[in-house]
Amino acid sequence: MLALLLACVPSREAPPSALNDAFEAASIEYDVPRDLLVATSYALTRLEDRSGMVSTEGGSGLMDLRLDGDVPSIHKAAALIQMDSEELEHDTAANIRGAAAILATMADNRELAIGSRVETYEHWYPLVAQFSGESDPLLAEGFAFQVYTYMMWGVIEEIDGETITVEAHSFPFLDSRTARARSSLIAQFIPASTSNYTDSSRTSVDMVVIHTMEGSYSGSISWFQNPSSGGSAHYMVRSSDGEITAMVDEEDTAWHAGHWDTNSRSIGIEHEGYISDPGKWYTEAMYSASASLTRDICDRYGIPIDRTHIIGHTEVPGCSGSGGGSSCHTDPGSGWDWNKYIDMVKNAGGGGGGIGPTGALADGDKSGWFEAKVSSDEYGLTKVCNGPVNGKATSGHLYVTANCHLEHEGSTGDFHITWSGEENGSDILGTVVVDAYSDPFEGVIQSDGSVVSDLSGAHDLGGDIGVVRYEATIQIDP
Ligand SMILES: [Zn+2]
Repeated sequence: MLALLLACVPSREAPPSALNDAFEAASIEYDVPRDLLVATSYALTRLEDRSGMVSTEGGSGLMDLRLDGDVPSIHKAAALIQMDSEELEHDTAANIRGAAAILATMADNRELAIGSRVETYEHWYPLVAQFSGESDPLLAEGFAFQVYTYMMWGVIEEIDGETITVEAHSFPFLDSRTARARSSLIAQFIPASTSNYTDSSRTSVDMVVIHTMEGSYSGSISWFQNPSSGGSAHYMVRSSDGEITAMVDEEDTAWHAGHWDTNSRSIGIEHEGYISDPGKWYTEAMYSASASLTRDICDRYGIPIDRTHIIGHTEVPGCSGSGGGSSCHTDPGSGWDWNKYIDMVKNAGGGGGGIGPTGALADGDKSGWFEAKVSSDEYGLTKVCNGPVNGKATSGHLYVTANCHLEHEGSTGDFHITWSGEENGSDILGTVVVDAYSDPFEGVIQSDGSVVSDLSGAHDLGGDIGVVRYEATIQIDP
C-alpha cells in the first residue's frame, strides 16, 4: 500500500540551486563569509547579471567587477582564479569566485599589516569598504554600511526560480552608525569632477529631470568624480533608504540630460538601479526621499508641480529617435510610477528638513587648516600631522578634506580625512571619516564666521596595532 502511494507521487525535479551553489563554493574556497558575498552582490546588482550589460561605473556581472580601474578589477580577479576576464564577464559562478578571491587577497594583506586574522564581520567591514573601489572614504564607508545594512535586514530574493536568502544579522559595532543615519534631507556633498559640469551662476531653474543610474549608488557617484566620465547630476538618491548625496551646486549646470537647453534650465536627480528591474530598485524609501527633494526644489524656485516641469530623461528632446537627449536615453523607464511620484511631491510637507542655508555659513569654496594627532597605545606612538584643508559649503552643508602623511620605523601611511556636516542653528553637526578603516565619529562645530572643530575618536584595528586614537582640530576660514 505504501509502495503504491509513493508511486503515485509525481516525480519532482530538484529546485535550481546554481546561484546558491556558486556563493557557497566561493565562500568555502576563499574563506570569505557567504552572507557577505551575497549582500555585496545584492547591494551592487540585486543579484542580477543583466545579461552581460555593463553598469555606469564600468562593472560586469553579479559582483559588478570593473573592466577598467584597479578595484575591484575583473582582470586581477581573473588572474587570481586563473581564468580569462571574458569568462568572468559571462559566467556568474566565475564572477562570484573572482570577487571572493579579491576579498581574500585584501584580507591576506590586512592580516600581514595588522598581524592578526580577519575573522569577524567587524574585521571584514573595512575590506568591504575597500572592495567598493571608492577613493573617497565617506563613499567607501557608505558602501560597507549599505552591505551590512542588507545583512541586518536580511535578504530574500528570487532569481530564475531560485531563492537566495540571507538571515538577518545583528552587528552591535554598527549601532551608533545606524542611529545616526538620515538626520537630514541631504546626507553629504561629494563634488563631481569640475570637468563634468559647467560652472554657472544660475539663480533660476524651471525643470527637474528624473534619471536612473544604470549602476550602483557608490559606483555612479564615483563615476561622476572621474574627469573622463563627461557627466554629472546635482543629486544622487540611494535605493535602500533614500539617502541623498549632492554632487553639483544647484547654481552650476550639471551635464545630465544630453541636451544643453534642458541642462541649463534644470536640476538633475539620479536614482540608484536599473530600469530593467524597477521592482527591485524603486523603493518607497527612494520615491519618498526623491519626492521631498523635488518638492524642496520646486518650492525654492517656484516650479509648478506637474509633468511639464518634472520630466524623465526619456522626455528630453534632441535625440535623433524619440527622446532622451542626444544619446536617446530611456530612463527612468516604464517602471517609474509617475502618478504616485507627482502625488508624493505634492504631498511632501514643507519644512521636512529643507536644504536652504539657515545660519552664518556662506556658500562657496572653503579653505582652512588642520592638525591631527594619531596615536597607538600599543606602540606608545603618537604622530602629528597638519596642513591645509579644502572643501566647500553649499546650502548649509560643509564638506572638507585633508591629507595626513605618517611615517613610523620605515613604514608610511597616508590618511585621508573627510569631514562632512550640516548646519543646524548655530551649530554644524557632522561626522569625520579617517580613511575607510575607521568608523566615522561625530563632532559638533560652531559656525560663528570662522569654523573651529575639535574631533576625536578611536578605532580598534586589532592585532599588534590595537586601538588607534585620532584627535583632530579643523579650522575653516570665514
Ligand atoms: Zn538619464
